[in-house]
Amino acid sequence: MISLKNVSKWYGQFQVLKDCTTQVGKGEVVVVCGPSGSGKSTLIKTVNALEPVQQGTIMVDGVNVTSKATDLAKLRSKVGMVFQHFELFPHLSIIENLTLAQIKVLNRSKEEANEKALGLLDRVGLLAHADKFPGQLSGGQQQRVAIARALCMDPVVMLFDEPTSALDPEMVNEVLDVMVELAYEGMTMMVVTHEMGFARKVAHRILFMDEGTIIEDTPKEQFFTDPQSDRAKDFLAKII
Ligand code: ADP
Ligand code: MG
Repeated sequence: MISLKNVSKWYGQFQVLKDCTTQVGKGEVVVVCGPSGSGKSTLIKTVNALEPVQQGTIMVDGVNVTSKATDLAKLRSKVGMVFQHFELFPHLSIIENLTLAQIKVLNRSKEEANEKALGLLDRVGLLAHADKFPGQLSGGQQQRVAIARALCMDPVVMLFDEPTSALDPEMVNEVLDVMVELAYEGMTMMVVTHEMGFARKVAHRILFMDEGTIIEDTPKEQFFTDPQSDRAKDFLAKII
């Protein structure tokens, strides 16, 4: 579903991604971890072309992301993305947040978009909050809305960039629970997170990045029991 082949990226002289190659199969959950500044956010943003790359090839569901001919709006409607900060539109109600792109990008009717939105709000346990504004919800609730909003577009892939790291600790699990459910339903996911409990539960593989390089791309069990690199060992020792 996702393939990165020899992807390199520079910011000026600084090489942020160094020859990164990996694949994520349909229904696979890949957790990306590694120290701060190692290129995790940049890597997953290349998948929906939020970050252009200078070298390499990226394919999503058969679409060449790195080709100039690709319709990026269409690509991004297939790729849901949830960030650390929820990035809901503060001046729109929750239901309006969930229907806007469905109507504008997918040309759904208002009724159709509403129906989809209400179904997904129900699924993340927030149906009663449809007419509130983002500022009236807790951080955990807002992040669940952000996930529901992404799912409204019927994405084939979901990308998460530290979705729980800006939340108060008591709200982390309500967001992870939604993500775990999504994983069990077979969504293809790339998740940057330091939540190793989540990784142990649902990840198929772990990518460990350091200084722009994917230094491990390992099945979950092996990563936790027998990481290959010293840097991954050090990292695990610090966070577990
Ligand atoms: P991570 O998500 O692993 O913390 P990032 O992908 O955000 O890492 O960043 C990787 C490196 O690229 C960091 O050293 C960061 O300072 C640098 N970087 C990120 N964005 C930019 C930018 N727009 N311009 C220059 N350097 C950047
Ligand atoms: Mg980051």
